[in-house]
Amino acid sequence: MVKGEVKVDTTRVAAFLAMTILLSRSYEPGWVFPFGHWDIGICLGFCPAFGGIGISAMAMLWKKGKKGVPKDYQKERLIMVEEQLRRRGISDRRVLEAMEKIPRHFFVLGDYRDSAYEDRPLPIGEGQTISQPYMVAIMTQSLELKGRERVLEIGTGSGYQTAILAELAQKVFTIERIPALTERAQKALEDLGYPNISFRSGDGSRGWPEEAPFDGIMVTAGSPDVPPTLKSQLAEGGRLVIPTGPRFTQTLYILTRERDRFTEEEVTGCVFVPLVGDYGWKDD
Ligand code: SAM
Repeated sequence: MVKGEVKVDTTRVAAFLAMTILLSRSYEPGWVFPFGHWDIGICLGFCPAFGGIGISAMAMLWKKGKKGVPKDYQKERLIMVEEQLRRRGISDRRVLEAMEKIPRHFFVLGDYRDSAYEDRPLPIGEGQTISQPYMVAIMTQSLELKGRERVLEIGTGSGYQTAILAELAQKVFTIERIPALTERAQKALEDLGYPNISFRSGDGSRGWPEEAPFDGIMVTAGSPDVPPTLKSQLAEGGRLVIPTGPRFTQTLYILTRERDRFTEEEVTGCVFVPLVGDYGWKDD
């Protein structure tokens, strides 16, 4: 029912009339007046008919009240960290603390807010997703951040991963291909008060050469190969985390730079939306 609309419940009106007639007639079996003692009948008829209305009204209020009770997101977040991260081997204390602190539900679209701490990726609009919490954790842990690094993130998306990087590094540079997502993420991160993030809208597969080199680079979209642009923008000793492989299933790799040599470590299998750009996939 639209707010403010008054709806006549014909079933309840009929029930009330029927009870009134029945009870008034049974009270005065002489049938002198067609409705007997109609005043008593009305009183007695009121009780069951309005008793029913009262019970359903109470049930409605209870239901509404239950719906209006805010979810305990902090509790859900602690459970997420314990069950989805610690138990699966995420051990970097700073990563775990950041994920205990950052309100993931803040970065999720309204319809999905109550699912924010579930063990899965969620849609964020524009055909894109916020990654599963475990994937965010393992990618962040792979960068081995200590707090003084300059980090480049490709694929801002909702901005959730950006917030975690901003907690753990000194400065974060983040690039998103879709301007509407950049705008929304920037607003969310400014509302949360992060002062150490620079945003750019454009093709992140080219990197951010003016700000290179970076101590850590994280690519949060699947690429056919490691873009050479990103390798060249990695600092000596820096770590690059990237999912590469076929379009619909990839492997997460960590590349570590030692002068001009890169060592490669396989982390886990994964599925990401495509990195679309000059050094990624050519179209959506
Ligand atoms: N880390 C994000 C979060 O926490 O919400 C999720 C990122 S989502 C899995 C991947 C993002 O990469 C999408 O928002 C997509 O638009 C973006 N993307 C794809 N190709 C890109 C490119 N060439 N440059 C920048 N962003 C790109």
